[in-house]
Formats: sequence, structure tokens, C-alpha cells
Amino acid sequence: MIFNLKDNENIPIKLPFATDITLFLKREDKIHSFISGNKYRKLKYNLLEAKQSGFTKLLTFGGAYSNHIAAVAFAGKTFGFKTIGVIRGEELVDKITQNPTLRFAQECGMEFKFISRDIYRDKTSTEFLNTLKNEFGAFYLIPEGGTNTLAIKGCEEILTESDKDFDYVCSSVGTGGTISGLINCSKLSQQVLGFPALKGSFLHEDISKFVSKSNWKLIEDYHFGGYAKINVHLVAFINTFKKQHNIQLDPVYTGKMMYGVFNLIKKNKFPKGSKILAIHTGGIQGISGMNKMLKKKNLPLIEI
Ligand SMILES: *Cc1c(COP(=O)(O)O)cnc(C)c1O
Repeated sequence: MIFNLKDNENIPIKLPFATDITLFLKREDKIHSFISGNKYRKLKYNLLEAKQSGFTKLLTFGGAYSNHIAAVAFAGKTFGFKTIGVIRGEELVDKITQNPTLRFAQECGMEFKFISRDIYRDKTSTEFLNTLKNEFGAFYLIPEGGTNTLAIKGCEEILTESDKDFDYVCSSVGTGGTISGLINCSKLSQQVLGFPALKGSFLHEDISKFVSKSNWKLIEDYHFGGYAKINVHLVAFINTFKKQHNIQLDPVYTGKMMYGVFNLIKKNKFPKGSKILAIHTGGIQGISGMNKMLKKKNLPLIEI
């Protein structure tokens, strides 16, 4: 299996309001236009393991707009696995063509099982997993959001030797897998700052399980009310960022992280002379789904 994972370019971001701070953005989003940078990193060693253990099917879980579902579907198509997506929400069964993420996943050959929110909550119970085994046969299980030990190993390849001079590494946080990899491959002279995209007091503990260093911190002021919750300020920020820097951010993860980084710089929270590297983890495929929702509410759209 060939993974085309290069060391992604760091692009300087001009900061007219803070000339004493250097900010670069690592373009992990460039790994693939539809597959989030970090989701591909997280899949790499899992797919190698699945293949080595003789599995031909991957099964995973996700919501209707999940970057992870899109990534697993595409990876399955690319590397020759059948894929099964267990999707939260029974009502979506006849809305596949209206949902850009599910439509893409289906075009990649993913088979779906739609389940109620109640069952979804218990999706990793032995009982439910046995039901899935009876229905689909043997499969390699990838957890929701893709985070496990092998996923973190993949994310340990995001930072390279040439990134060693940055003082801060900033990343969006969902389940905490990506930041765990970043912490593990960071230098002790660096501080890793995580910007959770959701309210989750459990995150600190989850990340602590995967890392042994303490050069990291979660900044919990920029989740905008919760997972996939956004407001007009965030949309305006993403649109302005695109106009000024010609880089697309996504509303669920990287938009919030970047908003937070800019806000902290403006509030002089970084010492003068700081060199900051923010990771663009991707997520662009989620924009059209978010825009559908914004359109329904008659709110300004994210420009793409
Ligand atoms: C999933 C995702 C994240 C969060 O990654 P975790 O490893 O779950 O913390 C961040 N950014 C994007 C674009 C994602 O799709």
C-alpha cells in the first residue's frame, strides 16, 4: 500500500496586527481535497494492520457529515477494502443523495447501516458489535473519529525535523488523537496548544493516556458552543481569512482553531518573537453540509 503522505509545506501567514510574531500554517489539508489531512494520517497504520491481518472489510462509525466517514470510504476504495459505515440517525436512510458526505462515501463504495441515536450511544457494546459481525462477517473495526494507538502513530509523522524551531504548535482537537501524535513528536522546547472543537472535560484525561510529556495545554475558549456549532463571527472570520490568505478553513475544526490563534495573538498572549506553527488538519469536505444548514437558517454562507 502506497500512502502519498509528504512532509507538508509550511505557509507563512502575514499578521499586520502583530509584526513581532511569526505564524506558519502546515498544509495537511493538501494531502487530498476530500480527505482531511489528519484522518488520512490516522488511517495509515490501521490499514497496514488490517491488510497484514488478512481483513478485507473495514467498519467504522460516524455522523452524517463526518470527515472520518469520507476518509474511510475513500481509503477503502483506494486500497482495496470493502467499507461499512454505521451512521448515526435512522432518518438519513433516504437522504443519502442530499448529503454531500454520504453521497461521496457511497460513490466510493461504502455500504451504510443507519441506526438510531440511542443505539449509536451504545455502538461499542459487545452485544451490538456481535450483531454487526452476524450481519457483515469479519471486519477490521476503526473507532469513531479514527483514534486508537495506531492512529496516533500516524499523527506522530506530522511534525518533522524542519519544524523543530517553532515555539508553539497549534492544532484543533476532536477526540484528541491528532494532538496526542503531535505531542509525542514535539520537542520538549515546544509547547503544543490544542483548541477543542467541542465542550469536553474528558479530553484532558483522554489525551493524557496517549502521551508521556507535559508540554501541552488545551485552550477551551474557542469551541463556539459545541461540536459543529458555529456563529456569524466564525463564518465571517473564515471568509476574511480566505480573502486575505487564499486558504480555505473549515467551520468545524480549523476555523475555530485559527480564530483562537488570531485572538490569542491579538490579546498579546504569546511572548514577543514567538514562532507559531498551526496545523491545517483539513476538513474542507464538511463545508457544503454546513452551508446547507446555514442556507436553511438564512445565514451568511462560507465562501468556497
Ligand atoms: C477529526 C478532525 C480533527 C480532530 O482530530 P482528533 O484526532 O479527533 O482530535 C481536527 N481537524 C479536522 C479537520 C478533523 O477532521
